Amino acid sequence: MYSFSDVYGNELTVSYLKRAAQTKKPSHAYIISGAAGSGKKLITRTFAKALQCEETYGAPCGKCVSCRTFDSMNHPDIIYVTSAANAKSIGVDDVRAQVLDKLSEKPFKYRFKIFIIEKGDTLTPAAQNALLKALEEPALYGVFLITAANVGKFLPTVLSRIIVLKTKPLPMVSVYNYLTEKAGVPEKDASEASGYCEGYIGKALSLLNDEEFAQLKLAAEDIIKNTRETYAGIFEAAKELEAYKPRMAELLSILQIMYRDIIIYKATKSEKHLIWKQNINCTKENASKFGMDILLKKMNAITYTMDILSKNASFAISADVLMMDLNPLAEEI
Ligand SMILES: [Zn+2]
Repeated sequence: MYSFSDVYGNELTVSYLKRAAQTKKPSHAYIISGAAGSGKKLITRTFAKALQCEETYGAPCGKCVSCRTFDSMNHPDIIYVTSAANAKSIGVDDVRAQVLDKLSEKPFKYRFKIFIIEKGDTLTPAAQNALLKALEEPALYGVFLITAANVGKFLPTVLSRIIVLKTKPLPMVSVYNYLTEKAGVPEKDASEASGYCEGYIGKALSLLNDEEFAQLKLAAEDIIKNTRETYAGIFEAAKELEAYKPRMAELLSILQIMYRDIIIYKATKSEKHLIWKQNINCTKENASKFGMDILLKKMNAITYTMDILSKNASFAISADVLMMDLNPLAEEI
């Protein structure tokens, strides 16, 4: 558990942190920032484990008492700062009780006292100001490791005292290799998940177990397979999209990937570079049924809908226009 060898990609960040763990002279505070599922937690926790490891410098040994108590989440000198009673944000009282009060006590047994603040971008401004005290007058043994999806939520005074490291998305092929080689995911599923996850392994893994996401894929497939041939049918299909409104951005992303495949297949007549491999017949049928100009127009319509919905356009009108573009009537084809 928690080893740098489990981190895929992000080589620069990992080697930077390994060097800090090698000298056992880390800075007092780090923010590891990046999208959901990009490995922030794995990198941060592994760094904490490496700093406290009694046997090795750099990567954690995984065998010493420190490493083992870390893995069992009972390390006496690693404190996970959380929001009380599962509130949505970490408040000033949380920081006082879990950080400031504890920071005055020396480490129980190990070299450092490490405070891990996951979802650090939920720290309220008051909580950040309280934390600032600890950052301005750091105890020699105190280390703060903060993960955050959105660095923009931090006060400039806090950011100026913290080293910010960013996780990066991986190439699709790296995600695919991880899923098939390390996570035991079947090839077809891995191909799809690596196509949908935007380069983040964690996101791929959560999508694979997401029942609603599986429903979205079926809905997208249905839109492509069941082309409507009358205006009444088109508007009925648009109305059906209401059911997917909360996850419309994802549905559109899936449609985009499916049409990408249709276009690639039409251009190459090869299955080699396809992502959506569960229904190859549908890809082939659409590639032969529509001309390239119509397919590109459909693709553009999806991109356009993503754009206007992100700018709060009317859902119902956007859905009508999208379905008209995706279902060109016979005389238009
Ligand atoms: Zn160790």
